[in-house]
Amino acid sequence: MDLSFLAELGLDKTVSGAFDGTWRKTKGDALTVRSPIDGSTIGTVQMADAKDYAAVSKAAHAAFLRWRELPAPKRGDYVRRIGNAFREHKEALGKLVSLEAGKILQEGLGEAQECIDIADFAVGLSRQLYGLTIASERPNHHMRETWHPLGTVGVITAFNFPIAVWAWNSMLALVCGDSCVWKPSLKTPLCAIAMTKIAAAVLGKEWAPLVGLIIGPDLTVGSAMLDDPAIPLVSATGSTRMGRIVGPRVAQRFGRSLLELGGNNAIAVMDDADLSLAVRGIVFGAVGTAGQRCTTTRRLLVHEKVVDDLQARLVKAYAQCTIGNPFDKKTLVGPLIDEASAKAFDHAVAAAKEQGGTIVRGGKRAKVPASLKGGAYVEPTIVRCDSMLPIVREETFAPILYIVPVKSLDEAIAMNNDVPQGLSSSIFTNNVRCAERFLSSIGSDCGIANVNIGTSGAEIGGAFGGEKETGGGRESGSDSWKVYMRRQTSTVNWGTSLPLAQGIKFGDE
Ligand code: NAD
Repeated sequence: MDLSFLAELGLDKTVSGAFDGTWRKTKGDALTVRSPIDGSTIGTVQMADAKDYAAVSKAAHAAFLRWRELPAPKRGDYVRRIGNAFREHKEALGKLVSLEAGKILQEGLGEAQECIDIADFAVGLSRQLYGLTIASERPNHHMRETWHPLGTVGVITAFNFPIAVWAWNSMLALVCGDSCVWKPSLKTPLCAIAMTKIAAAVLGKEWAPLVGLIIGPDLTVGSAMLDDPAIPLVSATGSTRMGRIVGPRVAQRFGRSLLELGGNNAIAVMDDADLSLAVRGIVFGAVGTAGQRCTTTRRLLVHEKVVDDLQARLVKAYAQCTIGNPFDKKTLVGPLIDEASAKAFDHAVAAAKEQGGTIVRGGKRAKVPASLKGGAYVEPTIVRCDSMLPIVREETFAPILYIVPVKSLDEAIAMNNDVPQGLSSSIFTNNVRCAERFLSSIGSDCGIANVNIGTSGAEIGGAFGGEKETGGGRESGSDSWKVYMRRQTSTVNWGTSLPLAQGIKFGDE
């Protein structure tokens, strides 16, 4: 494998795991970074400790106090240049994502593109941080609502989107007048270091502390962030298990959290659906990123009249999905992130069988060439079930698709909603009544509901996130920026008397 792109990104030697405007001389344990492709060592990070965390947080806060005074369009101009720097390094970043997270190169490049897109979005936003004017009930008064910078945003990210999730958060936070401290997954630290280096180079010495970085164990630097009163917002992406710790702990100090947690996404397929369209949407949703997207299609709720036909078509399509090295152009399915994920796959397949499911395709570790033996490769798997088995209600972060037959749209909607998670959902139908019912208030209860496209591959222009155990957060497009700011309501009296609201008379007047 040609790894010369690592030098372009400044990752060719042991790197520090803490950035507070300069790369700190960290003294924590050395973290050996391995590629999920073949288990080979691709870097070493000297991890940070709680003392490093305190320094990074302090520097980010000090930078925030100055940054908030810069007009938002000027902040946007810095973000424009950061976006351009992402463009310059898109190829190298895409390759790094493939190398460190195991995504096929097309998806790695797609993730780098998402960083560029959100930077562009944020630049436009920097001139649109609109407030409101509100009619006052009192004469010679006006009311308005304005949005102000919030402070330092703590950004915790998962391994499976090792650069985009930080970009979604930090590009918006920067135009909103905030600084950031990023705590990435220990499975993908090199991606975090590369992105921080690129952004810091654009920001220059004066503003580089705005993009703080801290790489270290959850129980030291992670906990320090959760308890840090200088972090008014923690935006945390990862498992529901993590969210259960982060949410209450941040709330304990009245901090805010934006939680983007696990999904268990379903596609409903009605008997009038265009099945070839459905097959394409389902295969990308279920097999893409080796089933390691929060929006991965995990459940298919298919009308009984077409279920056997659709299943046969899927089995055929799965046979075309080449498993292997994600840098190989023919590969559609790369490795899982690690052996623990492969064990979770094995466990889910065994549980599905035990609970009455039938393995229609896959279910085993994949056969790969000897050069990839150090990676964890599994076969994209289809399981047919008569009903929603207990294992179907769990999110297994691997390419397992459960097919459940349904008799009607309403049964499909009920099953779609009958899981603890509420991230993404979709329906394939040519019937406008079915489509609209699925999207209505009595339809899907998810944060994302699509028609005639799959559950994954969202665009940055919409608000992204989900309900229930997915955490309720929204980030990226639409008005998600409001989470990164504080709202202020102001009433101004430009008259000469002081009338009270609700007509209250107080004293002699
Ligand atoms: P994970 O929960 O193991 O880790 C996510 C992040 O949380 C990591 O940075 C980890 O170090 C940190 N973390 C864990 N415990 C912590 C603690 N006690 N204090 C502070 N930080 C802590 O998740 P993962 O395996 O990296 O990612 C897969 C999960 O992420 C899946 O459940 C997936 O659905 C979810 N995910 C959700 C979204 C979304 O937008 N909803 C996006 C991507 C991934």
